[in-house]
Amino acid sequence: MSSDNTIAEIKRRLDIAEVVGDYVQLKKAGTSFKACCPFHQEKTPSFFVNPERQIYHCFGCGEGGDIFAFVQKMEGLEFFDALRLLANKAGVKLESYSSGDEQRSEKRRLLEINQLAARLYHHLLLKDERAAVAREYLRRRALKTETIEDFMLGYAPNSWEATSKFLLAKGFTVEEIFKSGLSVKSERGNGYYDRFRGRLMFPIRDIHGQVIGFTARLLPGPNGRDPDGPKYINTPQTLIYDKSQALYGLNLAKQEIRREQTAVIVEGNMDVIASHQAGVKNVVASSGTALTVEQCAILKRFASRLILSFDNDAAGENAARRGIDMAIVAGFSVRILRLPDGAGKDPDDCIRQDVELWKQAINDAVPYMTWYIELTSKRTDFNDAEAKRRAAGELLQEVAKIPDVVERSHWVAELARLFATVESLLLEQVRELQKKQSRQVATLATKSVNSTTSDKSFRPIKKDRYTLLSEFMLGLAFYWPELRASIVSEIRLENLGADNELYRKFEEYYNLLREGDETISNFRIWLEARQNNEYVRRVAILELQAEKEFGELTPASRQAELDKLLGEFKLLHASRQKLELTRAMAGAEKSGDQQKIREIQEKLKELIG
Ligand SMILES: [Zn+2]
Repeated sequence: MSSDNTIAEIKRRLDIAEVVGDYVQLKKAGTSFKACCPFHQEKTPSFFVNPERQIYHCFGCGEGGDIFAFVQKMEGLEFFDALRLLANKAGVKLESYSSGDEQRSEKRRLLEINQLAARLYHHLLLKDERAAVAREYLRRRALKTETIEDFMLGYAPNSWEATSKFLLAKGFTVEEIFKSGLSVKSERGNGYYDRFRGRLMFPIRDIHGQVIGFTARLLPGPNGRDPDGPKYINTPQTLIYDKSQALYGLNLAKQEIRREQTAVIVEGNMDVIASHQAGVKNVVASSGTALTVEQCAILKRFASRLILSFDNDAAGENAARRGIDMAIVAGFSVRILRLPDGAGKDPDDCIRQDVELWKQAINDAVPYMTWYIELTSKRTDFNDAEAKRRAAGELLQEVAKIPDVVERSHWVAELARLFATVESLLLEQVRELQKKQSRQVATLATKSVNSTTSDKSFRPIKKDRYTLLSEFMLGLAFYWPELRASIVSEIRLENLGADNELYRKFEEYYNLLREGDETISNFRIWLEARQNNEYVRRVAILELQAEKEFGELTPASRQAELDKLLGEFKLLHASRQKLELTRAMAGAEKSGDQQKIREIQEKLKELIG
């Protein structure tokens, strides 16, 4: 397949709205989708995605293009890597690229290493006799083969060099294997050895399903107990793996999270796997302890609500508290899930007992403030004034963090009841606390916005009225055939500035139409057929803009709108010309050029008359 064909084929198979929807929450708007722009900061959406034209465009900062441009910008990839990623997604083979391609980026190489290692581990787990202990472990955990395959679980052989040898044989260098995190530098001498040995392997995948790292679990020894060594080890920070951004299971959970607008966050990878196997799929793990700002920003693309499930111990409680703070700043509505007594120590346990208990626990998740109040109440002796004061102080601290005023006063009222005091006193305290907190929250909020923005150089653009008017008129004429005639009869070519060339094309098209020569009823499609790709893009954007501004009008009011725009445009144009002529006149008078002066006077008369 030639490269142009490949690109066209990928575009045909993928829905740009779905691809962009992995990064931004899209809302339907006419034939398009809109969202707040991921490339610049804004509060009202000016970022549009149009599936029919296969483009995205931000009218705020001007950023736009096709599906490849989007993935490149969003992920910070070279064109080839974006192509590779989307080809995988679309199930299109990239034969013409893969052979003899020497300049694959470092990122791409690391992704390949991880993918190969994951496949090796997976194969060993399913087939190799050394993996018997791992298979037995999974059998006791009641994991089905299908689940093991979905999560691509694996087994790392208990060897210092098996993984490295395998990868070296596949053409990767010692240095590359080290950079992928799969090997460790020996402290004695200058050798390397495999990081993961004799462990159950959980590949960590990004949103597209690409393996970016691993979590490795110790397996029980022959006596059935865990041998020495940390229970879990992870891939260290690499060029493609950043713990603060990874969410285990997101590639498999994202659709369900989007559908439910809710993500359930659990602590362990096994919790995610068990829940998915049981059919509850909007579940991910925050790989590590507390939820980070970066993870919140990613989840925000899919959900508006978070349900946090943390272990019922001090570490779990601390993790939950930190996670709640992050989630509130990111604008989530946050609930806390508690496993009922006797339902196991973690979700995995609970699901193995009875999946209905797990579903019930999700349904019964309470607002996080309710959880705070319960925790504090349990620890407070309400007969002790000093203890009461402390408890109230702690809880008010949390109330002060709530951004929404209605919600805040709801909880102030609750606390007033709990501590048998008047609301106004508590409100006073909340205000004091807010002053102290506002600075911290502001820093967090900026961090959370910036973490989704791959390039901070995008700035809102401001177009002058003249440019905007001419763009609106062109968009109207391009998109709605019935408006073509009035534009062509009213607009003079030289008036359109940057779009003059495009307008010349349009006139050509229009004349062909009038002569009955053309059968293609849409200007953009006509350009497409002539492979005028630069123009096609520009027209698509102008159409999109017209649709956004005037799409909801009736045909009659659209015509009226156009007439108004034309009127304003002509006035603006005349005043611009007048200014120009006045300046020219001043110049001519200075040099005493009588001929020139007369000419300008004529023109001015024309303009006014
Ligand atoms: Zn923008």
